[in-house]
Amino acid sequence: MSIKNLLIATSNPGKFNEISNLFNQINIKTINPQCLKPQLTILEDGNSIEENAIKKSQGYSKQFNTWALADDSGLEIELLSNNPGVNTSDYGGKNLTSKERNCFLLEQLNQFAKPIKARFRCVISLTNKLSESILFHGICPGYISPIPRGENGFGFDPIFIPTFHQQTMAEMTIDEKNTISHRGKAIQKALNYIKTLK
Ligand code: IMP
Repeated sequence: MSIKNLLIATSNPGKFNEISNLFNQINIKTINPQCLKPQLTILEDGNSIEENAIKKSQGYSKQFNTWALADDSGLEIELLSNNPGVNTSDYGGKNLTSKERNCFLLEQLNQFAKPIKARFRCVISLTNKLSESILFHGICPGYISPIPRGENGFGFDPIFIPTFHQQTMAEMTIDEKNTISHRGKAIQKALNYIKTLK
């Protein structure tokens, strides 16, 4: 039961590029749902990152009758009781730009001594045509940079410095980020699994 085409269940172009980059290396064609009709909106209202990832991959898989892979990720900060966590995408308000969201988070952290430990957590859900899902996990530990730096990536990349690095994720290339990131690690596990199906 090999996979030739895989729908990447995301509307985030930054995520689509990162994920496609890895799958194209093993000759699996990735499909961008932005190019399909009807456009699907899945409400990310689960109580956990896991629930949201499953909801997205199963929703897209059913709609388009294909294998689908969804990622759900969150930023966890121990000093904030592991928030924003499952609420990372709306942290500080639904309509903020990434820049404004980063500023909001830095304001919440003003009161604490530096460096501030944080981690990105990613759950990948891979769903087959029978709506069966399997999960893969990845964690990237690091620190919050008090000053945003870099133009690459998306979301909190300008203020996240992975452990053992000096650059923020936004100062890294897509390949550098994929090697160490939460998503890169989870996808690598998914890739290893998919290779066993070939
Ligand atoms: P989502 O619900 O999986 O789309 O992710 C929630 C939010 O986490 C995103 O909107 C981003 O703000 C943040 N996030 C997830 N992964 C990353 C990343 O690799 N870099 C920076 N921010 C990220």
